[in-house]
Amino acid sequence: MTATALQAYRFALDPTPRQQRSLASHAGAARFAYNWGLHLVQERLEQRQAGEDIEVPWTLPALRWEWNRAKHQVAPWWPDNSKEAYSSGLDALAQALKNWSDSRNGRRKGRPVGFPRCKTKRRARASCRFTTGGIRVLADRKHIQLPRIGVVRTHESTRKLARRLEHGTARILAATISRTADRWFVSFTVEVQRAIPASNGKASVVGVDVGIRHLAVLSTGAVISNPRALEGSLRGLRRLNRELARRAPASRRRNRTRRRLARLHARAVNLRQDGLHKLTTGLATRHGIVVVEQLNLAGMVRNRRLARALSDTGMAELRRQLGYKATWYGCRLLVADPFFPSSKTCSGCGWVKAKLTLAELIFRCEACGLRIDRDLNAARNLAKLVQDVARSGWETQTARGADRKSQLAGQVAVKRAAGTGSFPGETGTVQPQGWTA
Ligand SMILES: [Zn+2]
Repeated sequence: MTATALQAYRFALDPTPRQQRSLASHAGAARFAYNWGLHLVQERLEQRQAGEDIEVPWTLPALRWEWNRAKHQVAPWWPDNSKEAYSSGLDALAQALKNWSDSRNGRRKGRPVGFPRCKTKRRARASCRFTTGGIRVLADRKHIQLPRIGVVRTHESTRKLARRLEHGTARILAATISRTADRWFVSFTVEVQRAIPASNGKASVVGVDVGIRHLAVLSTGAVISNPRALEGSLRGLRRLNRELARRAPASRRRNRTRRRLARLHARAVNLRQDGLHKLTTGLATRHGIVVVEQLNLAGMVRNRRLARALSDTGMAELRRQLGYKATWYGCRLLVADPFFPSSKTCSGCGWVKAKLTLAELIFRCEACGLRIDRDLNAARNLAKLVQDVARSGWETQTARGADRKSQLAGQVAVKRAAGTGSFPGETGTVQPQGWTA
């Protein structure tokens, strides 16, 4: 069976100096429109509060209407950029306003969303989204075309996307340009037709724990180490962080260190991402059932320790990638209940330790005397969950093709039933490809 999914293809660009200026100009224009719209909304809100009967532009069409009326005065240079740039900024603003009002009215889950703030050049990421006009991937697989900016060389081959476009199994919906650590990227939002296998034919079960010292530890005992280059980057990051702390505020040297840090950080993220992609593809193609931990979102808030922060984001990324790859390759993904103590439970006898600190790398069971690597213990506990679930009738549950999150045995939520061909809503289907290492 086939399914349609949204997928993102991301490529690093090699723009000419003139194109770099044009890309920056478009991102700047988007930011300008965003800030202009925000000030207008604040002004109108104040006027309304003062008792005036006045419309507050809250949606994209309303904001666009106001912009088109005002642009000749506030931005006489507007014809320099594609009109998509201004739309892009106003669209982001409309979304931010909606998030804020939804959050206030209790229609949005998660942490409360603040009222949109002005985007400064320093704080905001330079980006701009194109939804219409000449967006193309050229047949030579080395160039892409964007409205106004023209034909830009890509740093890597676009073949993965180009092939799909040539076969007619993909359609480009939008292109977003963005800058990360002095490098420009383009990300295409693409509607893709995919053949969905009912099953990958594998019977094995594997539990995965994303570790601190390693990329992941599997219940099979396999230890997937961090990419070699990542270890080097982490050392460099620690060194540059210390250097940054010593630099005088607002000095040229501090700025230089900050930029070097940003570049190295982007590289570390890419290396890790690359390692995770290889891991998740391997898991989804070689195993019938993959069991992972549920994220403890509350515990994830802003950890100052670099390694811990990377491990947390790694877990989130692993879950996200497995979410769609399970569907692509026909494996089943099980997510353990957030309160399942996978690290604190003995994988040998089931005894639960009252407290396990992060410093304890070896799990020692006080009941049966088992000594085992902490991460391996967690991975084994996750894999064992499947047996418990199977006993409590999980097979019949999924056979009905339910995609809903059902709590089973009080410990496992079934994220996706094999063969339904449906995508798990929460993990989404947008994925990055074409990462540079
Ligand atoms: Zn034990």
